[in-house]
Amino acid sequence: CGIVGYVGHRQALDVVLGGLRRMEYRGYDSAGVAVLDGTGALTVERKAGRLANLEGALADTGLGRFAGTAGMGHTRWATHGAPIDRNSHPHRDATQRVAVVHNGIIENFAALRAELESDGVEMTSDTDTETAAHLVARAYADGPTAGDLPASVRAVCRRLEGAFTLVVTHADEPDMIVAARRSSPLVVGVGEREHFVASDVSAFIEHTREAVELGQDQVVVITRDGYDISDFAGEPAQGKPFTVDWDL
Ligand code: GLU
Repeated sequence: CGIVGYVGHRQALDVVLGGLRRMEYRGYDSAGVAVLDGTGALTVERKAGRLANLEGALADTGLGRFAGTAGMGHTRWATHGAPIDRNSHPHRDATQRVAVVHNGIIENFAALRAELESDGVEMTSDTDTETAAHLVARAYADGPTAGDLPASVRAVCRRLEGAFTLVVTHADEPDMIVAARRSSPLVVGVGEREHFVASDVSAFIEHTREAVELGQDQVVVITRDGYDISDFAGEPAQGKPFTVDWDL
């Protein structure tokens, strides 16, 4: 339901939780975060219920585990799978190197899931979203998009049907976050030495008012210092820049 991703100079956990709080008005049943620490660790926490439950779980496990300047967060409005902890986003692949958050519905998830399972992948949730985490991990591990996270995400998006905003991180790529959209909103927030992706500008408006709206079937890579948009085929593409002029 609400999505935020961040790469910059601040602690990502603070930015992400602040963004999720600002999107609370949209309603949700679960929440989760992932933080990349820059040395190859990807740390995830997720909880059914209010953001306060997630914050409690974060405090219990020790906030020190969530140090890092890249991360993402999600508030879920369940469509596939009950609103319980293991169905909460982020979802990861079996190696736990890839994390994905998702708004919307992957219509062909049953076929994708059957394909993955027949290949020996074990599902750990009842969601449509989890298939995307496994597919990205496999595309990154092997084949024509190996070692290229944006290309891996584009290749997976070409296989997905339905409406989705996806945000993807890989522990091997701690300096970037990749996001994609089809028939579901995605905006980039452009700051000084920091960039954001979100389903709603309210997620980052406290940090920057410079925004870029992605077009249909586009992928964006954000880093601390910039952003780069392409279409699902990998051709360079343009978003629509705008300035948020409403008051907080
Ligand atoms: N379809 C996904 C799920 O049920 C995402 C729902 C959402 O948009 O929050 O987990």
